[in-house]
Amino acid sequence: MPSTDAAAKTTPFMAQYLEIKARHEDCLLFFRMGDFYELFFEDAVQAAKALDITLTRRGQHEGEPIPMAGVPYHASDAYLARLIRAGYRVAICEQTETPAEAKKRGSKSVVNRNIVRVVTPGTLSEDNLLDAGEANRIVAIGLLGKDETCGIASADISTGEFLLRETSLQGLGDALTALSPREILYPESLAEETLAFLSLRLSPAFVGRPSRLSNPKQGREALLEALSLSTLDGIGQFSGPELAAASVLLDYLKLTQAGTVARLNRPRTLAAGTSMDMDAATRTALELDRTLKGERKGSLLATIDRTRTASGARLLAQRVLSPSLETGEIEHRLDAADWFQALPDLRADLAEKLSAFPDIERAVSRLRLDRGGPRDLLSLRRGLEEAGAILSLLSDTPDPPPARIRTLTGNLETLRTSEVVELFSQLEAAISNDVPLLAREGGFVLSGYSEALDEVRRLRDNSRQVIATLQGRYSEETGVSALKIKFNNVLGYFVEVPARQADALMASDAYIHRQSLANAVRFTTPDLSDLATAIAGAEGEALSLELEIFRTLCTLVDHAASPLATLSDTLAQLDVSVSTAEWAQETGACRPIFTDEPGILEASRLRHPVVEAALRTDHKGFVANDICLNPETRRLIVITGPNMAGKSTYLRQSAHLVIMAQAGLFVAADSARLSPVDRIFSRVGASDDLARGQSTFMVEMVETAAILNQATARSFVILDEVGRGTSTFDGLAIAWAAVEHLLDVNRCRGLFATHYHELTELAESRPGAANASFRAREWKDDLVFLHEIVDGPADRSYGVQVARLAGLPKRAVDRARQVLKELEARRDAGNRPDGTDLPLFATLQEPQPPLPGESGEGAPRPETTRLRELDPNDLSPREALDLLFELKGLAREE
Ligand code: ATP
Repeated sequence: MPSTDAAAKTTPFMAQYLEIKARHEDCLLFFRMGDFYELFFEDAVQAAKALDITLTRRGQHEGEPIPMAGVPYHASDAYLARLIRAGYRVAICEQTETPAEAKKRGSKSVVNRNIVRVVTPGTLSEDNLLDAGEANRIVAIGLLGKDETCGIASADISTGEFLLRETSLQGLGDALTALSPREILYPESLAEETLAFLSLRLSPAFVGRPSRLSNPKQGREALLEALSLSTLDGIGQFSGPELAAASVLLDYLKLTQAGTVARLNRPRTLAAGTSMDMDAATRTALELDRTLKGERKGSLLATIDRTRTASGARLLAQRVLSPSLETGEIEHRLDAADWFQALPDLRADLAEKLSAFPDIERAVSRLRLDRGGPRDLLSLRRGLEEAGAILSLLSDTPDPPPARIRTLTGNLETLRTSEVVELFSQLEAAISNDVPLLAREGGFVLSGYSEALDEVRRLRDNSRQVIATLQGRYSEETGVSALKIKFNNVLGYFVEVPARQADALMASDAYIHRQSLANAVRFTTPDLSDLATAIAGAEGEALSLELEIFRTLCTLVDHAASPLATLSDTLAQLDVSVSTAEWAQETGACRPIFTDEPGILEASRLRHPVVEAALRTDHKGFVANDICLNPETRRLIVITGPNMAGKSTYLRQSAHLVIMAQAGLFVAADSARLSPVDRIFSRVGASDDLARGQSTFMVEMVETAAILNQATARSFVILDEVGRGTSTFDGLAIAWAAVEHLLDVNRCRGLFATHYHELTELAESRPGAANASFRAREWKDDLVFLHEIVDGPADRSYGVQVARLAGLPKRAVDRARQVLKELEARRDAGNRPDGTDLPLFATLQEPQPPLPGESGEGAPRPETTRLRELDPNDLSPREALDLLFELKGLAREE
């Protein structure tokens, strides 16, 4: 990028560009020129690559051609979305005057331009840039000196949601994970290790902000400004770190909105201990909102979501990603869903109304941010109509509703607050059913709403008729029946009469002579001039009147923002309750029962919602399994069984059971009983995280460490194949130690799936641990997975059979069988772990017998083994010849 010093030597246009660009070095600059946003220099090169658009050149700078790329203004949203997704931030620079206005300042003046917004992943509000069912949060961290407590401020400017909470530095990663932020702002004083730790676990954009912004006093002032309040007393108590975080957040929002104060709802504080924290690894492994491939389809949420509204889908996601720890709240949610389950007709009526309910939460936010349009007003009108219909449905129900439904019905009464009534009556009278996207396109205000608007529209639309009427009047007044009103570009509107009938008009003061032609004479009149001006101006005037009405309606929306937020939240809650009941009805899910007895997790015929749904599509059945955990005899279950038997599925469905129950949802089982879980941990199927410089084994160990360090007696842990990424003995030793730690130190509930059969002996000998295994049956040399869990360890692992099923070459499978036999024989001859120590290590210290195939006494030679195994009667002449070559090869390897 050229220096600004060079600006002095450059054209005024380039000087303007360079000056603006210098203020936004970390963004791509969309520089408005007529109907295009143009990008220059390195910005152009990068955008051309990211958007696959042509890179051209424009003029020269310091003797070099200037690279340029452009996107059309009217289609810029799609390009913006792609750039934001690719990780860029984009500063939008608009023309703030017309070229004509610029010319008035001198013929060489450059049109004034200024940044109107910086588009970043966390500050989007446009529907086409957002996912309807997902929140789009930006989160700021607030730090006070060396304090171990930090504040978190989170906002979704597309909905106005605003949250504040405190957390320990150690819990920061999990607290951020629960919010699924798109962008994280951190004070630059945040320790490098903490930042590295966070960026290892979270993938959104991280933006460093000056540490001085992390200041409670500034936070208080910014809050007062953002909420248009003179004191915060009425809206709650906020701690120093929370205010510091609010300061970092609100400053950034102002910066990206070019000085406009963000319009947010009053902040909600999330008290520590009210929701279940989950680390990023757990959330990813359980595929709650995304599959491991990053797709929404196939995730738990996509499978269970029957919501009809966008705000309902967002609320459901929030509940699943941040399950509650408050049994009172959970029971209220379950009561509401239960009630709807018993009332299918009401549910169907409500579902129909909810389907027509637009996303008023985002519409309100856009209107308050000055980014809204007539469609948002129409959405609001329709939303308020539907909300009214829903209120009537709920006010007249056959069965007495539970407390939560009564509260929600009460919330719908906000429809009757004066601000909403006023807004609705204005919207009903003003907004037509067929509206354009942008207010500046006009034509969205109903006729009859404003007399002044109707008048100018009449003028615009009926100009012909108005002129015909005037022509009739003039003709009558002058007695010249041939009188005509005509138009040309020189005279505009004029009266024309045949030359021989012009005398009467010549003699009248009302007609001003303009032109005499051979056969006709032309006049104007003051009325006609006024009319001409009025017609010409009518179009513009109609538009400016409509824009004025639009602004007035936006002000009414602003006044009604608080009751509108309540309405939207209420409908989202109803939607989630109906969705829960509907999904339960469809799949036979049940209401979970919470118990005060500690350490219980029981369910009969538990299923994995996603795998079950997928199998149903393929017309296959899912095998439901029971789970039974209790503190005395079955705190931790070691699960063994063949690959593909269903161990990982079982682990995940048990974790889903806990998450859904505590989200206040029904669970995929015939019955379920559990004591509340404070944290859920999972280590299931780690993959390499090479992009972040971590190997499979390292990722696995980091996740296992987090579990062993943090799980409490109220936690639930699922561990799948811990210790697989290293040598057998190392892996077994780690797995062994992890099981012991969970049993003796953490004392949590847990499931531990493993292929290390040695662990089954540990489980047998330890109080609190038990074995369970998945059954498989061999049938005609084939393996049938029964997907059925039974008590006790698996008899064997069937790994070789699975390898054969997977299509490993016969020769490799045969060889594997042979090696396995030898290893098993050796193990059976040696010591076995007795559950009190690890004799494996003892075995290690002894001289190791050679593996089959290695030269050494007692080990059969491979060619001998091969010959022993085959039956010459089964061989064709060709196979016999091949075998001969093979044996020759084996002998050579010796
Ligand atoms: P590995 O040890 O190789 O990781 P696993 O024992 O963990 O295997 P899963 O990955 O859980 O096995 O399951 C393998 C496949 O079996 C799943 O993709 C699913 O299609 C099917 N499956 C698992 N559980 C069941 C079940 N209870 N009913 C029907 N099909 C099931």
